[in-house]
Amino acid sequence: MGGWWPSSEEEQREELSFDASRDPGWAKQVDEWPWIERDEETAAKTGACPRCGHHMSVVDTAAVHARMVLADGGEKPRRYAACNCGVKHADTPEGESGCGANGLIERA
Ligand SMILES: [Zn+2]
Ligand SMILES: [Zn+2]
Repeated sequence: MGGWWPSSEEEQREELSFDASRDPGWAKQVDEWPWIERDEETAAKTGACPRCGHHMSVVDTAAVHARMVLADGGEKPRRYAACNCGVKHADTPEGESGCGANGLIERA
């Protein structure tokens, strides 16, 4: 670990283009990060985005969970998550953030 993390994200510009195509491989890697409970209703996970390598986070709340319980049992419910690294990637659409990587991850 270490070495790759820039000391400052300010004014950092990134050549990697924004790409919002859904990537199951990306979600699989995010699934491996541990959920950290913040309180009874909230859990979060953070890590280096598998696509762009920048720091990103996902927050899961009980409120989201209630909406997402699926009727067809068996599979664990999943939720949408996307990179929110905060670094300006090339071609990022107005109002978007991160590199665009996204997928359906396991719930907390
Ligand atoms: Zn990024
Ligand atoms: Zn990213």
